[in-house]
Amino acid sequence: MRNPWLLWIMTVLYAVNPQGTTGVHNPIETSTEATLLLDLEGLHVVKVERDHDGHRIVHVVTADESARACPACGVFSVTVKERVATRPRDLRAGDSPYTLLWHKLRWSCREPLCPRGSFTEQIPQVSAGMRTTARLRRACGRAIADGGRTVTQAARDHRLSWPIAMRELRAYATEVLPDQPEPTPVIGIDEIRRGRPRWEQDPDTGKYRLIADRWHVGFTDLATGQGLLGQVEGRLSTSVAAWLNARPKAWRTALTHVAIDMCQTFRCAVRAALPHAIIVVDHFHLVQLANGKLADLRRRLTWKMRDRRGRTGDPEYDHRRLLRSNREDLTDEQIAILERDLTRIGTYGRHILAGWHAKEKLRYLLALARTNPARSTIAHRLHAFYIWCADHPYLPELVTLAETVASWWKEIEAFLLTGITNAKSEGTNRVIKLEARCAYGFRNPANQRLRSRCATTRESRNRAIPA
Ligand SMILES: [Zn+2]
Repeated sequence: MRNPWLLWIMTVLYAVNPQGTTGVHNPIETSTEATLLLDLEGLHVVKVERDHDGHRIVHVVTADESARACPACGVFSVTVKERVATRPRDLRAGDSPYTLLWHKLRWSCREPLCPRGSFTEQIPQVSAGMRTTARLRRACGRAIADGGRTVTQAARDHRLSWPIAMRELRAYATEVLPDQPEPTPVIGIDEIRRGRPRWEQDPDTGKYRLIADRWHVGFTDLATGQGLLGQVEGRLSTSVAAWLNARPKAWRTALTHVAIDMCQTFRCAVRAALPHAIIVVDHFHLVQLANGKLADLRRRLTWKMRDRRGRTGDPEYDHRRLLRSNREDLTDEQIAILERDLTRIGTYGRHILAGWHAKEKLRYLLALARTNPARSTIAHRLHAFYIWCADHPYLPELVTLAETVASWWKEIEAFLLTGITNAKSEGTNRVIKLEARCAYGFRNPANQRLRSRCATTRESRNRAIPA
């Protein structure tokens, strides 16, 4: 293209119509309505037609003046080298996908110092070498992050490959998920299995041993609605403390309360990383523990008196659901039946009844939460619970229950005074499990954390819901 005559003709053509490529090099009428319907920035629709198979072909030309700029030197070229056509894949319109046929130009760069000889047009929606539009790829990432689609299904829907769909999810998540959480006064820490535990049979002994038991520890915002703030792999005190320490100082300072379940690992981690924060243990795990101890007691005494496990016809077995129920949910008649039938068994029956009373005394204490209780009331009910357990030293289940309450008393008292519960963490875990089931499990823990975060971070979920 060094012919001076040709250059002269090109210059004249450009001078006649400096508006650009379309006018000079694509002297074709474009359709304003069809362009508006396509709504793809940087392209103008020339016509839409059907091929012999009935597929729609949308002919487009470049409408972006900057597409003429050389990517190497930035100078606008005026010399067309050749015409090419590409078919970048785009979103669907209607039931079937259409083919986008982009008639574009290859330009020569005539700057003496530019190493680039020629280049084809590119626009932000379809950059050089890309065979898909940016909006198609973004829609795929959004379908996974916000739409609850699996990577496989979203890739199928958008006619992309799995690795591309995953890459787009990462790009979309980087865009919508906050890099660091906003300050919040209360967070909850909870653990969740990240897959099934795997057992292996030892060929020599025939015994099974655990070879893989994988966990994630999640941090959930309990006060400002940010959802899941992050997860770490494993459930070691050091990894939990490391996540907390990696947050900005302002964030850690703003944190006043941390809700956990009765897990020594979390308590150590929070004490190490956030010495100023108050640790809270809520009633859920305590009542669960008390019910577990009562069931242990019932089973142990059944074996002791009958030399077998409980079965229908044994009063303590028949009433096991009544024993698990809350006192206020039982009618006076049910309570009378429970007491009458268990007392009738004899000493062991009375012991089971004592276990039930211990659980109810603990619940009576925990019911003080959110009632702004006086310290004397708390002390009174706690004392009643301790005395009851101490009066039955021959029931080891009640002794360990009282010991657990004693070793966690500071955190339980914080719950009674603040009413903070870790229920949101449990709710988050439910969504994470659902996500893992939909995906039929995850191989890659980093991908699992990303998917879990997309599904449970309110910030990103709210964007998916139109106002
Ligand atoms: Zn150049």
